[in-house]
Amino acid sequence: MQRWRRDHPGELGFVPTMGYLHDGHLALVRRSRAENPLTVVSIFVNPAQFGPGEDFERYPRDEVRDLALLREAGVDAVYLPSAAEMYPPGYQTYVTVEHLTQRLEGAARPGHFRGVATVVLKLFNAVSPTRAYFGRKDAQQLRVIRRMVRDLDLPVEVVPCEIVREPDGLAMSSRNVYLSPEQRGAAPVVKRSLDAAAAAWAAGERDAETLRRIVRGVIAAEPLAALEYVSLADDETLEELEGRVERPALLSLVVRFGSTRLLDNLELA
Ligand code: AMP
Repeated sequence: MQRWRRDHPGELGFVPTMGYLHDGHLALVRRSRAENPLTVVSIFVNPAQFGPGEDFERYPRDEVRDLALLREAGVDAVYLPSAAEMYPPGYQTYVTVEHLTQRLEGAARPGHFRGVATVVLKLFNAVSPTRAYFGRKDAQQLRVIRRMVRDLDLPVEVVPCEIVREPDGLAMSSRNVYLSPEQRGAAPVVKRSLDAAAAAWAAGERDAETLRRIVRGVIAAEPLAALEYVSLADDETLEELEGRVERPALLSLVVRFGSTRLLDNLELA
């Protein structure tokens, strides 16, 4: 990859993914193509960001389809490192973003963001992008990467991209394939719960607990859905907010349908 990059100098946009591509990924690719003369996509299901008992082995993979989609999308190169070349025997260096990774997904998935930050830094070192494109779907991940880029003075511009949704509101995710037809039918409740809070926010509601309670109420009405957490946090530090919300905030939640965790969020400003 580094050799390819030396042969292809100039501005370059980079889209890191775990593959099993959907239109959310392809929106990042389109944005990169619009803003850069070169675009590279990586596909790597990163073992370091999965905990014991998580879905690393069964994470969906379809390299042939992914490569066809990326060729059609006009990307200049696809980087597909193996786990053995990313983490050879003796590997022992990891990146820890400290406070931002303590709550929300970091609390639910210990070690997850250490794996994410480490692999993204390694991918940046391989690709040397000018700009890197990340979805707002993974809101905490975006903030962790931004923090790492600032803290380690990485010469990369992080570009956040809007969440791409199915027509019924479900945020696109490679993991949606785990849902049974009944669960898939019920899954739009996640977005509906955010919409209910957004409507209250638009009508002037500013009490943090009231906004969280609105989300809980909508999820509770769907028997197939189990709320794992709902958070209304400071948009930058991700500290949980109490009382009146006076600053930009991130409303985020994880809802379980059986063993499948669906993550979604809404920025309130
Ligand atoms: P993943 O393959 O799930 O690791 O995602 C790769 C990138 O695509 C990350 O920056 C995600 O935030 C982004 N992404 C995933 N799903 C969506 C979506 N529905 N809308 C926008 N971006 C997304």
